[in-house]
Amino acid sequence: MGLNHSFKTARKKIVALDADEREVVMAICRDIYQAQVRLTENARPILERCMSNCRGLCCRNIHPADIITEWDLLYILVMAPQMEEAMAACLKRERFFPSDCIFLENGTGPCLFPDNLRPERCIISFCRVEPSVEKEIGRVMGGFSRLIRFFLFRPLRRLSRWLRPLNSAREP
Ligand code: SF4
Ligand code: SF4
Repeated sequence: MGLNHSFKTARKKIVALDADEREVVMAICRDIYQAQVRLTENARPILERCMSNCRGLCCRNIHPADIITEWDLLYILVMAPQMEEAMAACLKRERFFPSDCIFLENGTGPCLFPDNLRPERCIISFCRVEPSVEKEIGRVMGGFSRLIRFFLFRPLRRLSRWLRPLNSAREP
């Protein structure tokens, strides 16, 4: 499945949230944002190397759909809904062979997404092990895992909410 499908799925998931669920998702996304802030700050020297040595080689000649997931798109759409139109325009350029990332601004870069609103793999992946930011990487990964778990268990939580009044009505 391509990124267009992930984008549609992410949008549908957001639209289906009720007010309470929206609050929880917002809180998780804010935590991911804070974790990305900390990672970006502490990885500054490493990221400078990315820019000076290879000018963002990792964003070129890739399959964006192998890197970017519906959870990344959902995170970005929750935190920056105003990005939706620009993202949809980029997605029209989706190809199924390796190419420069469709989210490079004007096809050349930098990345379209604002600082700290980056897909998980874009922000946590470096071309070598970086022990100095292991903890910060773990926090970003933990945030995305919570986001995924929230949606995974959402149907069960909804069912138990629906059953609760029925059960209390049956109680003597
Ligand atoms: S992670 Fe490595 S290969 Fe990728 S842009 Fe940075 S320095 Fe270059
Ligand atoms: S989303 Fe941004 S950081 Fe990630 S590969 Fe595309 S251009 Fe690079």
